Amino acid sequence: MSTMQQRMRGVSSTRAVVLGGSLAGLLAARVLSERFEQVVVIERDVLPLVAGQRRGVPHGRHLHGLHPRGREILDELFPGFTASLVAGGAVRCDVLRDTRWHLSGHQLRQAHIGLPALFASRPFLEDHVRALVRRLPGVRFLDDNSVCGLTTTADKRTVTGVQVRGPGGVPAEVTGSLVVDATGRGSRTPVWLAELGYQRPEEDRVEIGLGYATRNYRLRPGAMRGDQMILTAATPANPRLGVLAVTEGGRHVLTIGGICGNYPPTAPADFDEFVAGLPSADIAEAIVGAEPLDDPLPFRFAASVRRRYERLAAFPVGLLIIGDAMCSFNPIYGQGMTVAATEAVALRRLLGRHAVPDARGYFRAIAAAIDVPWDIAVGADMAFPQVRGKRSAKVRLVNAYLPRLHAAAAHDEALAASLVRVIGLIDRPEVLLRPNRVLRVLRGNLIHARRSDPAPAAPVRQADAASQRIIDALTTPTPSGTPAAKATRPARQQPEAAGQRSEAGGIH
Ligand SMILES: Cc1cc2nc3c(=O)[nH]c(=O)nc-3n(C[C@H](O)[C@H](O)[C@H](O)COP(=O)(O)OP(=O)(O)OC[C@H]3O[C@@H](n4cnc5c(N)ncnc54)[C@H](O)[C@@H]3O)c2cc1C
Repeated sequence: MSTMQQRMRGVSSTRAVVLGGSLAGLLAARVLSERFEQVVVIERDVLPLVAGQRRGVPHGRHLHGLHPRGREILDELFPGFTASLVAGGAVRCDVLRDTRWHLSGHQLRQAHIGLPALFASRPFLEDHVRALVRRLPGVRFLDDNSVCGLTTTADKRTVTGVQVRGPGGVPAEVTGSLVVDATGRGSRTPVWLAELGYQRPEEDRVEIGLGYATRNYRLRPGAMRGDQMILTAATPANPRLGVLAVTEGGRHVLTIGGICGNYPPTAPADFDEFVAGLPSADIAEAIVGAEPLDDPLPFRFAASVRRRYERLAAFPVGLLIIGDAMCSFNPIYGQGMTVAATEAVALRRLLGRHAVPDARGYFRAIAAAIDVPWDIAVGADMAFPQVRGKRSAKVRLVNAYLPRLHAAAAHDEALAASLVRVIGLIDRPEVLLRPNRVLRVLRGNLIHARRSDPAPAAPVRQADAASQRIIDALTTPTPSGTPAAKATRPARQQPEAAGQRSEAGGIH
């Protein structure tokens, strides 16, 4: 047993234990370090000393976009974070001026909106966060140790720590007054709860049959025409997507994907053919003449999974859950890291009141942090007829509205800006449903329908009728008497929107 493990024997009310040293675990450790004398992060992998791929994070090989809200939180938790990443080779740019978004087959109008985007590989990002967490007083990493169970008081009401197996399978216990599970999608907490006699949480699952394939390139000069990212979203007519983005070291990473079983191939020639069949040709054009730096690597993601811990009637004291262990989102919307950051902020707020937050209050706050991104992702998935699930009238309506919004945002930079702020989890989706936005979308559609067809009398009349139905529906008074679209405010003004659900559909 290591000296570290020996020192950890004996219950400590001043120690928090974090299970998993990936992004959610690191952010949890960051906020716990403000409240606990010791924070022990237990990680199954041997943590690399320099940025590198590791077994416990196989998704780290695939493109990871950090949304603006996530970047903002990282800057709050680690002042100077963006600047230090950029100094290390990450690329900072404007999220709309320097990127090409192809949504529903329309390219958003590019314009400077003063909202920074940050491009770096997942290992590079995680390595920077880990280096900053290592420097925090009281934080220790216990890597090469696998957590295999919880320890509790005799009545099983309070978690007192965890059982671990170190190198060579040596068993040990690590105690603490608060245990935070950040072991990701494969979290064993539901099983451990059942073993202790508690109920397992219900799971919301959305089967999406997503496949990814990723390849790194050195592009020819000028291949991106000055842009840092090209994103082509899947459409119901063509459920293939691709994102090509700059990453540290002047490389570019290309992740292509297909939902509903449209798995991209990994043989290089077939990979290129798949790229050529994306809804927009921009990525295929950008990689012409590029030097591939590796072979395409696959990843399969069967379903988005949300564990409803907030619905459990009983839960032990001293145990919380964060990150993908709570909710693992369809990755095409790039939300997981930002949601983990939002959850860390919620945990920090509760830690300000109690060193061991009440589980019920915690899970309610986390559920509120998950609601909007979950509804965005699931709503967008529901635009694909093959994805099974309930489509409320609102989801159907929003999914009818979004292609119109995308079409209008191809010409209207204010609409494009509103849209990328919502995608970036800065503003709530309802912003896009405000009457002035809806009217602008419909006016934009009519103008461009007229321009593209010199005699559009019938289509315009149909569009007018469809537009009117959308306006009516989106401005119909809610039971409280307020039009649905008016009853909302931007996310920033509603930091603790516990219990409020966004009913907007997707946004991609
Ligand atoms: C293919 C793919 C692409 C993605 N793209 C994006 C994106 O573009 N943008 C974005 O924001 N998010 C993206 N995500 C989601 C994002 O990766 C996660 O939301 C984020 O990393 C937070 O994950 P986590 O820390 O909760 O879990 P994970 O990253 O899964 O980490 C879990 C950690 O726990 C450790 N562990 C597991 N079991 C044990 C154990 N028993 N004992 C000790 N340690 C253990 C693992 O080794 C690992 O380090 C993507 C996910 C996937 C799958």
